[in-house]
Amino acid sequence: MFDTHAHVNFNAFKDDFSEVIKRAQVKNISMVNVGSQYSTSRRAVELAEQFENVYAAIGLHPVHLEETDIVEEGETFSTRKEEFDFEKYFELTKNKKVVAIGEAGLDFYHIPENVDREAAIEKQKKVFHDQIRLANESNLPLIVHCRGTKENADEAYKQILAELKNDLPKKRGIMHCYGGAVELVKSFTDLGFYISFNGIITFDKTGKVEKILRETPDEKILLETDCPYLTPVPLRGKRNEPAFVKYIARKIAEIKGLKLEEVEKITDENAQRLFGL
Ligand SMILES: [Zn+2]
Repeated sequence: MFDTHAHVNFNAFKDDFSEVIKRAQVKNISMVNVGSQYSTSRRAVELAEQFENVYAAIGLHPVHLEETDIVEEGETFSTRKEEFDFEKYFELTKNKKVVAIGEAGLDFYHIPENVDREAAIEKQKKVFHDQIRLANESNLPLIVHCRGTKENADEAYKQILAELKNDLPKKRGIMHCYGGAVELVKSFTDLGFYISFNGIITFDKTGKVEKILRETPDEKILLETDCPYLTPVPLRGKRNEPAFVKYIARKIAEIKGLKLEEVEKITDENAQRLFGL
């Protein structure tokens, strides 16, 4: 199986990253560790160099454009503000195990109250396009993060769709942890984007993620854990890790009436095609 979005490069795994990676390796699970800023991008590349079937994505997440405190599933962390340095990131893409750019995108949810909202969104868009250029110049797909506000979840998705239509990444990419309108899914998959599913599908009581899955063509479905976050049922409360990706595959198989092996085959092929492996 292929966990297309993990963060074993994050501090949550600093004491036991090799055990975590080995637990995935013995289950034949490949992973892409995704960077959120320069330091975690570089760390993702280090892990990819050290371990087999471990790949890296490098990029600057929109929450790292401002300094703010973020609460994610009960844990608080402060983001450091970073300017996007194209050349520094471009250097990292020269490593053969870097298979994508990201995560990059729009995050309207975490914009701090003390900054000018419109200016913050403009800056996010600029850095997003800088990273589309990085993806094009390095011939890699883009991992897209998009999050709207509580009141208006879809606005960010509408805007990012418009940005992507204007400046379509050559190698396309992934809408990671897609949470936009069900009706918009087709617009993204028609552009050539993949949709990745994580633990939310195992505990979403609204049924929305299930609808998103049904809207997604088989050849565009990917698996991800987004670990250490979003632990799937039945392990809620534990720290998430790539080995748990099988619970997400199992749930997808159940919803689509497929065998687990079929979901594994489809999603492996999709990941290999997208990442050029
Ligand atoms: Zn992530």
